[in-house]
Amino acid sequence: MKPQKLLVATHNLGKLAELRSLLAELPLELIGLSDFDTVTEVEETGLTFIDNAKLKAAGYAQQTGSFALADDSGLEVDALNGRPGVLSARYGGDVGFDKKMQILLGEMKTSIHESRAARFVCAIAIAAPDGTMLHTTEGICPGNIAHEPRGNGGFGYDPLFVPEGFAETFGELSGTMKQKISHRARAFEQIMPFLRDFIAV
Ligand code: IMP
Repeated sequence: MKPQKLLVATHNLGKLAELRSLLAELPLELIGLSDFDTVTEVEETGLTFIDNAKLKAAGYAQQTGSFALADDSGLEVDALNGRPGVLSARYGGDVGFDKKMQILLGEMKTSIHESRAARFVCAIAIAAPDGTMLHTTEGICPGNIAHEPRGNGGFGYDPLFVPEGFAETFGELSGTMKQKISHRARAFEQIMPFLRDFIAV
C-alpha cells in the first residue's frame, strides 16, 4: 500500500500552504486538521521540541487513522538558560509579540550571562496511524539576539533574531532568504530523504 496522504498536524492554513510548496516535488497529498470534523487538541506538555512534536504526531495520527507529521518550534536564548524554548508561544502570558520581545530584552539585561547567543529550533515527527513513531528530526538556525527589535517582516520573535552570518534580523531579511536558512527550512530539508522512502514503500 502506498501511504500517499499525509496529515499535517496544524489548523493553520498558512503553514499547510508553506509545507505544500516545500514538499511540492513529492507526490504527496497533504491534508490538515481542518479536514476532520472532530479532533481533540493534543496538549503540548513535553519538555523538549522533539517531545511535543512526537506527542502531536502520535495523538493526531491515532485520532484520525492517518499518517501524521507534526512540528514544534521556538526560540532558545543562552542567557536565559534556553528559555523561552518550548514555551515560546506562551512566554510573558497573553500579550502580543512586541511586548514579549520587550520582556525578553528586560530579562536579558538582568541575566548574569552576557552572551546574546540564541537559536531557533524546529522539531518534526512523523507517526503511523497506530501512533508508532516513524521518524524525527530537528533543524537549528543559530544566531544572536539584537539589542532592540528591527524590521517588520516575518512573525513572532523575528525582529529580535539575527541569524549567524548576517547583520540583519529575520524581521529585516526578505521572506525568501528566511525560507532558505530558517530552522524550519533546515528541518524539512533533513526530512526529505525519509519522505522519499516513505512514498516509495
Ligand atoms: P510553532 O511550534 O510553530 O507553533 O511555534 C511556536 C512559537 O515559536 C511561535 O508562536 C513563535 O513564538 C516562535 N517561533 C517559531 N518559529 C518562529 C519563527 O520562524 N520566527 C519567529 N518566531 C518563531
